[in-house]
Amino acid sequence: VNYYLENIQTKAHLNAFVEVYKESALEQAAIVDEKISSGKAGKLAGMVIGIKDVLVYMDHESNASSKILKGFKSQFTATAIQKLIDEDAIIIGRLNCDEFGMGSSNENSAHGRVLNAADEERVPGGSSGGSAVAVQANLCTVSLGTDTGGSVRQPAAFTGIVGIKPTYSRVSRWGLIAYASSFDTIGVFSRNVQDNALVMEVMAGPDNFDSTVSRKDVPHYSELLHFDKRAKIAYLTETIESPALQEEIKENTISVLNRLKEEGHQVDEVHFPLLKYVLPTYYILTTAEASSNLSRFDGVKYGYRTPNAHNLESMYKMTRSEGFGEEVKRRIMLGTFVLSASYYDAYFTKAQRVRRLIKEFTENLLTKYDYIIMPTTPTTAFKFGEHNNDPVAMYLEDLFTVQASVSGVPSISIPNGKDKKGLPIGLQIMANSFKEAELYAFAKYLS
Ligand code: GLN
Repeated sequence: VNYYLENIQTKAHLNAFVEVYKESALEQAAIVDEKISSGKAGKLAGMVIGIKDVLVYMDHESNASSKILKGFKSQFTATAIQKLIDEDAIIIGRLNCDEFGMGSSNENSAHGRVLNAADEERVPGGSSGGSAVAVQANLCTVSLGTDTGGSVRQPAAFTGIVGIKPTYSRVSRWGLIAYASSFDTIGVFSRNVQDNALVMEVMAGPDNFDSTVSRKDVPHYSELLHFDKRAKIAYLTETIESPALQEEIKENTISVLNRLKEEGHQVDEVHFPLLKYVLPTYYILTTAEASSNLSRFDGVKYGYRTPNAHNLESMYKMTRSEGFGEEVKRRIMLGTFVLSASYYDAYFTKAQRVRRLIKEFTENLLTKYDYIIMPTTPTTAFKFGEHNNDPVAMYLEDLFTVQASVSGVPSISIPNGKDKKGLPIGLQIMANSFKEAELYAFAKYLS
């Protein structure tokens, strides 16, 4: 803990941590120390973990990096965090992110931007940018992020580390401040596959507080990392031939596919003509869900309330106008529009249908093949401000990560070399629902 506390201080300018739980982390470390000496320590004894600012932790502040939750302290702890604490992990602090998880660059945060430690003029990715940089820059061993459409995998790729989005419903969402409830997952950042697998096996599984969580048994992922089979792998023409794809990322992805062929695995090219619909489907459905989820922030129940209101209605209006950032407002408006009576069928219902088609295609393909491989992102980390005036260019950064989110299947990003500027490149691997064990084993084999 002392080692990380020192690093956090020397690298404070990266702005990864919003709050450091110095005293409680040191206290917890002393308790764990004793447990270790008496042979009673849990699976994660002494592992130092940072948490994204969209997860609640009892008696601690959580803001979802939004002004509207300023001063909000939770009365309970997210199940995912509680499960880690129960196995003697040490929670060292709260990590910066895009407001309510909306963004791909961590530039939409009330706590300010986070710097990528590989090049401080560039974004760390988003929305879990703080969580990624905390692991990248050695400020904690492992961190928790959330992934609705790529927010763990994309920043993991931009910072050169490992990041997983589990199957939807594998990890309880109790205590996760909702963005888009039918997409939200809690994922893990780490420097290697082993640590990631260990944390996931502790965090996953049933929870009485979340009725959507799966009751399936959780395999011991960290003990199942040995990989010795002949795998069937698909890659999608539309990803590898995408005009948006940076040349070096294409080369590095192809060289992994070639290596796999040489090692005797079956590697096939498959067409995915629906790829161009995945991003619009994602943004229609997630903004719809967000506009509904975020209606609870009204100045009455949580956090910030405007001091300038003169009646109830102006209190609602002014609190929301002053409390939410630009991107969040854009999404509330988009979501309200696609859910409005006259447009509901044209947008929301249609997007639900397309979601079904994408999910069926992906799941079918993953019964014929063990894995789908593709780049995690079309480009490496971009410069601050590069997409600020063009939200659509920003949304395009999620081109390859949203398929797993729309389909609910697990997906992992692992480092796959660097580009000419020395910026990390990510490789994404998807497997069918609840195949995290297979995903981790293959990711380890490839790393
Ligand atoms: N960049 C995507 C979005 O803004 C993904 C965010 C996420 O996964 N939380 O919606």
